[in-house]
Amino acid sequence: MTKHIFVTGGVVSSLGKGLTSASLGMLLERRGLRVRMQKLDPYINVDPGTMSPYQHGEVYVLDDGSETDLDLGHYERFTNSPLTRNSNFTTGQIYLSVIEKERRGEFLGKTVQVIPHITNEIQKCIAALVAEDVDVVITEIGGTVGDIESLPFLEAIRQFSLEVGKENCLYLHLTLVPYLKAAGEMKTKPTQHSVGLLRQIGIQPDVLVCRTERELSREDREKIALFCNVPVQAVVEERDTDFSIYEVPMALVDSQLDQFIVKRLNLPAKVLDLSDWQRLLHRLRNPEVEINVAVVGKYAEHRDAYKSIYEAIDHAGIQVGAQVRVTRLQSEQLETEGPERLLAGCDGILVPGGFGERGVEGKVQAIRWARERGIPFLGICLGMQCAAIEFGRNVVGLENAGSTEFEKDVTHPLICLLNEQKEVTQKGGTMRLGAMPCVLDMASKAAACYETGQIQERHRHRYEFNHAYRQQFEAHGLRFSGTSPDGKLVEIIELDSHPWFVGVQFHPEFKSKPTLPHPLFCGFIEAGVQRRRRRREQSHDNNPSEAESVL
Ligand code: GLN
Repeated sequence: MTKHIFVTGGVVSSLGKGLTSASLGMLLERRGLRVRMQKLDPYINVDPGTMSPYQHGEVYVLDDGSETDLDLGHYERFTNSPLTRNSNFTTGQIYLSVIEKERRGEFLGKTVQVIPHITNEIQKCIAALVAEDVDVVITEIGGTVGDIESLPFLEAIRQFSLEVGKENCLYLHLTLVPYLKAAGEMKTKPTQHSVGLLRQIGIQPDVLVCRTERELSREDREKIALFCNVPVQAVVEERDTDFSIYEVPMALVDSQLDQFIVKRLNLPAKVLDLSDWQRLLHRLRNPEVEINVAVVGKYAEHRDAYKSIYEAIDHAGIQVGAQVRVTRLQSEQLETEGPERLLAGCDGILVPGGFGERGVEGKVQAIRWARERGIPFLGICLGMQCAAIEFGRNVVGLENAGSTEFEKDVTHPLICLLNEQKEVTQKGGTMRLGAMPCVLDMASKAAACYETGQIQERHRHRYEFNHAYRQQFEAHGLRFSGTSPDGKLVEIIELDSHPWFVGVQFHPEFKSKPTLPHPLFCGFIEAGVQRRRRRREQSHDNNPSEAESVL
C-alpha cells in the first residue's frame, strides 16, 4: 500500500517547502523506502515554461521534456525518485484537462464544478504516482495556506485521505516561528493561526516543521503542540543554516522527523545511513583551494534564475576540493563598464542560457575576454551560441555575425532556427525539449570529462548552430566535439588551443547532483583551480613575500 505525505506551507512564502520535501524524500530513501516526489502549483499557467525568470526563477527541464518548477531540481538533487510529467501539475493544467473533457461531453450533461470535478482531477494527479513498487508519495502543495488559489488543492488532499484511509496519509505543515527581538521571545501565534486555517477546512496537520532562526525551547514546542492539537514530538525544529542547503537533511534527522514519520505511517524502514552525505559535508567545509567564477547572465541579480547552475558549480567544487566564490554579473553591465573592471581576478567564466537580445553583447565581450586570456569558459545554450558568434566575428572574421533570434536578416546567421521550429506558432511547450543523445569526438576535452563517447543531455531551445558555417569554423580551430547521432545538430563546441573553452547547446546543470557532480562542471572548475594555482606560482616567482594565497 502506497503511503502519502502532503507538504503544505504557512505564514509566509519562500519557507523552503521544496528543500524540506526533498530532504525528507532523501531520508526516507536512505531508510530503504521507494519514494516518489511531486509538486502541485496553484497558478493558472499550464507550466512555468512561458513565465519570466523574474516571476518564477529557473524553469527546470526533465528527461521527458516537461518544463517544471525549480523545486523539482531539489527533488532530483536529493533523491533518486524518477521525475516525469506526473511530477508537476498546475491549476492551469488541471482546468485545461477538465475543460477538454467537458468539450468532449464526458460529464454527460452535468454542471462542471470545482467540487467535485476539479478536486477529483487533482486527486487523479496524486494517484498517478501510486504503484506497487512505491512506498511513499510526497506531494508538495505550492503557495501558502490562506491563498485563494490553493483552496481546491487543500480540499482535494483532505478528500484524498477519506479515499485511501487516514492511516495512510500524513499532513506535514511547514511554518515559521519568528524571534521577536523587542520581546526577546519566539512567537508561536503565526503558526497557531496558520494551523487554525488548515483545521477550518478540515485538515489536522500531523507534523509541524518549524523554520526558526534560533533554537525552539521545550516550552515553545509544548505551546505549539497544545494550541495546534499535535503531540509535542510532532513539533519539529528546522533551524536556518547559513552554510549550505545540503545540511537540511541533517537538521531534520537531529529533530527526529524521519523517525516520527516512519512510525506514524507504519513504514518498513531500515536504519538510516548518512555516512557518504557526512563525508560530502566534510569536504564542503574543508576546501583545499578557493577560486572565483563569474556567471555572466541576463538575470544575474535574481538568485533563482540560474539555480541549477549555482548548485552544479557547488557540486563540482565539492568534488574538486574547491570553494567556488561565484560573482553574479549582469551581462548589460559589461556593455557599459567593459570586461576589464568586472572580470579581472576571475578563474572561470560561465555564460548561462537565456532568451532575447538584451545583454547579448555583454556576454560576447565576456567570452572574448575568456578566450583571449585563456580563462576557463563554459557556455550553456545561449552561452554556447554567443561563443560561436564571438568566434565568428573575432577569429573567422565574419563582420555582423549573429543569431536570427535577435536580427532576422543578419548578414551572417551563425545561429538560426531549428528546422522543426520553423512552423511553430504556439509558445508553450514547443521548444526542442528534454533528453537527447549526443555523440562525442573522442579526442575532445568533453569526451575526456565524460569518459565515454555517447551521452544524453537535456535541451530547451529553438535555435542551433548553422551547418553552413561548420567547415569555415573548423578551419579556424573550433572543434565540433559533440553532435546529434545523425551529425546534423551541433551540441558541443570547444577550442583545442585554449586551456578549457567549452560551449554546449544543452543544459548539463539539470543532471548534476551533490553525490554525482556533472563531468563538464567538474572539468570547468578543475581548470579554474589549475589557473588559480598557476597564478599563484607566478605571483610567488615575481614577489615571494607577497605571494597570493590559494585559500
Ligand atoms: N534563445 C536560445 C534558443 O532558443 C537559447 C535558449 C537557451 O539558452 N535555453 O535557442
